Amino acid sequence: MKKITIIIPAYNEEESLPHLYERLEKLMGSMKHYEFEILFINDGSKDNTINLIKEYRQKDNRISYVDFSRNFGKEIAMIAGIDYATGDCVIFMDADLQDPPELIPELVKYWEEGYDDVYAKRNSRKGETWLKKFTSKMYYRVLQHLTNIPIQEDTGDFRLLDRRCVNALKKMRESQRQSKSMFSWIGYKKKEVLYDRDPRIAGKTKWNYKKLVDLAIDGITSFTTSPLRISTYISIPTFVVLFVYFVYVIAKCIVTSTAIQAYQAIILLILFFSGIQILLFGIVGEYLGRIFNESKNRPLYLVNEYNGEKEMND
Ligand code: UDP
Ligand code: MG
Repeated sequence: MKKITIIIPAYNEEESLPHLYERLEKLMGSMKHYEFEILFINDGSKDNTINLIKEYRQKDNRISYVDFSRNFGKEIAMIAGIDYATGDCVIFMDADLQDPPELIPELVKYWEEGYDDVYAKRNSRKGETWLKKFTSKMYYRVLQHLTNIPIQEDTGDFRLLDRRCVNALKKMRESQRQSKSMFSWIGYKKKEVLYDRDPRIAGKTKWNYKKLVDLAIDGITSFTTSPLRISTYISIPTFVVLFVYFVYVIAKCIVTSTAIQAYQAIILLILFFSGIQILLFGIVGEYLGRIFNESKNRPLYLVNEYNGEKEMND
């Protein structure tokens, strides 16, 4: 019998978990020809999440969990899931039921047909603001243009991966992770499945715009260290001032029909070249930060407990 591992990163999800478990139980009951492993990654939750998971594990041996020593973020929780999964394929799912478990039989069907990476594409995004929808759309556009890898638009992390994709991802140990571009990077036979993304069942989103912008920047430059980014930020007002002053000088020249003054030209040139220089510093800083991060070579996460056993880090 083939085994399916469902990886669920959970951070303060005590309100969602009972609903989630109920829906998953129903699903597993309807797919009798498969063995299941439900692998929770408790990402340093401060609420009752871990105790709930332990309770479920006591009555249901299909439940496994990895308990992080603190909050490491969803991306890292996902790689931990990949490391600990024992199934022939894995499915990533959010704990808040925004990804309907009822779609899983369809994902599995395509897997059985020979697809290695079956990803769910959002038809609609209920319960999300237009601003989030808009920024996400623009982000995909930019990412697509800057990287040469095709990135699937409107696709979250809800997807099924065959064992060999899992093993491939295991080899990618970089610390600033953005799974979406990694899924694209590994390649293999991909299949798209459309679905309606539901609103979160309970609790609040763990994302805010700062987190999203950070993730977005990481996706584009792959890696970054924030202080080195200051230079990039400074270049933006410089270019804005340059632009405004440029328009002003040109307009004044036209209106008063005089030639451009020497001092005006000098100001424009200074603004232009200092803007470029600051920007280039910023770019160098981005790569420097990347080398800095990788050279540390730290473990990506630390586990407190795996299925009730203390992790000794030996
Ligand atoms: N999550 C996590 N660690 C974090 C933040 C979020 O493991 O630091 C989990 C969270 O429990 C959920 C999933 O990642 O299962 C998606 O988070 P959320 O629903 O808050 O994001 P959104 O759906 O709003 O993008
Ligand atoms: Mg959510």
